Amino acid sequence: MKRYKNDQHFLIDKRVMNRIIEYGNLDSSDVVLEIGAGYGNLTELLAKRAGKVIAIEMDPQLASSIKESQNLEVVVGDVLKMDFPQFNKVISNLPYSISSPVTFKLLRCKFDFGILMYQHEFAKRMVAAPVSKDYGRLSVTVQYYADARILEVVPAAAFSAPPQVSSAIVKLVPRPAPYTVKDEDFFMRFLIAVFSQRRKTLRNAILNNATLLGIRDNALGTIPDEILRKRAEVLSPEELAALADVLYENAD
Ligand code: SAM
Repeated sequence: MKRYKNDQHFLIDKRVMNRIIEYGNLDSSDVVLEIGAGYGNLTELLAKRAGKVIAIEMDPQLASSIKESQNLEVVVGDVLKMDFPQFNKVISNLPYSISSPVTFKLLRCKFDFGILMYQHEFAKRMVAAPVSKDYGRLSVTVQYYADARILEVVPAAAFSAPPQVSSAIVKLVPRPAPYTVKDEDFFMRFLIAVFSQRRKTLRNAILNNATLLGIRDNALGTIPDEILRKRAEVLSPEELAALADVLYENAD
């Protein structure tokens, strides 16, 4: 399989670009963050509608080819190694190989919403509901921080060079978590534990990860057997959170 440097699959279908701009519902009060601006095809359209655009691009050659505009700031660098500026919307055709870290970096920021292009498979995992085959750690974690919805699926032919798989445009709207957990860090570690061994029962997945979780030998004692016999993928996010809370009480 031919691999393209830094995920450089450029969006060339103007209709898709225009729909992304429409989804962004932009006006002069908006400060838009664009991650992975490439040669600026989307950037130019964003700058025509928004008050300000901050475009991040790692490749200096590409960055220097972006058309200048008085309301556009181009930042050359690796998005994972910089602090984000203030913005209220993030609109990007993301570099797919960093979809996870960049999404979690975004979800720690305060903003109105994101219109973000991902690989379709990744997008399906972001929005998945319990029991479905795509439901897992990514679904629970993303949905803890935000509402995520697939707006449309985009075929590979919309890009040059075309990626191997189809893509999807996702709307991400940050909001307070719909349920509470006693300790967010512990909950995130618990999700790693139970979904890294998704074919195992919760009992085995938890016991196999006792060190990661820092739980005592008798930590499962108070949890009903009918729950421990299930697999993580059949529990709703709220049920997983409740289970994590019980274990947290029994952690060192
Ligand atoms: N926005 C353009 C478009 O829609 O055609 C380009 C999108 S392309 C999928 C992703 C872009 O992200 C590439 O231009 C690549 O150089 C850049 N990129 C990859 N990794 C990056 C990183 N860690 N930080 C900043 N930019 C990155």
